[in-house]
Amino acid sequence: MSPKTKIIASTCLALCMSVGSFFVSAQQLNAEQQAQLNELKNTALQSDLSYQLIESLTTEVGHRLMGSEGDKKSIVWAVDKMKALGFDKVWTEEVTGSYWLRGDAKAKIIAPYPHDVVVLALGGSVGTAEKGLTANVAHFETFADLKAAPDNSLNGKIAFVSYQMERHIDGKGYGPAVGTRVTGAVVAAQKGASALVMRSVGTDNNRTAHTGVMRYKDGVKKIPAATLSNPDADLLVNQLKRGKPVSLFLKMTAKTDAEVIAKTANVIGEFTGSELPNEIVALGAHLDSWDVGTGALDDGLGIGMVVAAAHHIGQLPKRPKRTIPVILFAAEEVGLLGAKEYVKVHKNDMVNHAIGAEWDFGIGRIYKMTPGVGAQSLNAIRELAQYLAPLGVSLSPDNNAKGQSDMSALSNLGMPSINFSPDGSNYFDYHHTENDTLDKVEPEALKFNTAIYTMYAYFAAQAAVDFRK
Ligand SMILES: [Zn+2]
Repeated sequence: MSPKTKIIASTCLALCMSVGSFFVSAQQLNAEQQAQLNELKNTALQSDLSYQLIESLTTEVGHRLMGSEGDKKSIVWAVDKMKALGFDKVWTEEVTGSYWLRGDAKAKIIAPYPHDVVVLALGGSVGTAEKGLTANVAHFETFADLKAAPDNSLNGKIAFVSYQMERHIDGKGYGPAVGTRVTGAVVAAQKGASALVMRSVGTDNNRTAHTGVMRYKDGVKKIPAATLSNPDADLLVNQLKRGKPVSLFLKMTAKTDAEVIAKTANVIGEFTGSELPNEIVALGAHLDSWDVGTGALDDGLGIGMVVAAAHHIGQLPKRPKRTIPVILFAAEEVGLLGAKEYVKVHKNDMVNHAIGAEWDFGIGRIYKMTPGVGAQSLNAIRELAQYLAPLGVSLSPDNNAKGQSDMSALSNLGMPSINFSPDGSNYFDYHHTENDTLDKVEPEALKFNTAIYTMYAYFAAQAAVDFRK
């Protein structure tokens, strides 16, 4: 760089910065608050609190399936952690539901070429008869193909859907794949099938199946539903390609314990606002997990991030204007039961939920922010985007965010939302599997993402803007 270019460059840099800070100081945060935001960023980038929380949860509690011992332990764990981290108030709100027991699942290709294959029961599935069932396989490449099968065409058969989820940075391959998991057993039963077996909704090539919630429909026979690991789905497809009948044995002892009403709880901890304590900037994650793996990613990541973010803000000499509650939702995996209960209990208070964000997806760094706010408050969002831009976070041109997972139930009642998009390319390699364990957490990305949540929550709690407008 020549000396002359250097002068031009540094003048531009100074000018651009002053224009930038003038623009910013005319907006939501004053100079002192901007300095605090910067301090929070540095604190979060250096802190390993979010990682330590996930390490503690996965080591001392483990999996947290709705109604299980781990679920109960996690409630105590969350209350204790938030109290120890200095939250102003910590409480629980009861959530009830039914308790599903996974039991064992075994499957074997019987003919033409015998192989044991790896399966997992889908969450909520019934089991097979005690001796298991053996039937010929009817193959469908997509859920649409299964839907198009004539009634009674699957009598006495096992329906098999081999659709492979696609890998994308934003996880958009999940939507087209997950329909079979949720309602495939209903459609297969309507065609006469005695069971549904599907390729796992996942992007990995491990011999590990992915579980996840499924539903039955009143008036339609409940048939067992299981997922095959990706390599075993390939094996089954390869046998089918040979044109001979392929028969599969399936035995599952899964059941819902109708005798038991399982009790769990949303765990909420807050830092109470100094000027607008009734106005809420909600940070969410879900406390439950599937009963395979230790729920380090789903949703240990979210728990670590939102608890740590609120704690960092709570260490400032003065509380921000608005209240920041961390809501650790119960029973998300089995059908958003905690979120549904939350909006019921807080229905008169929803109007005070200024804005909300959840974390329930992705291991890698955040690269994009998408608001879902009123048109007038987009200026404030642009200001937040300026603070996040040096971290490589872009602002989406869309203004349609609805909140992830649990938070969508609050957004559906009018709460403005922000969605942060991380690199989720490898998330569905581990999602809902035995491999959802602590070693998959990327500590540097976690610090980075926690810093962004900390900055966002601080900004939203200080900004004197009505995000609904
Ligand atoms: Zn989740």
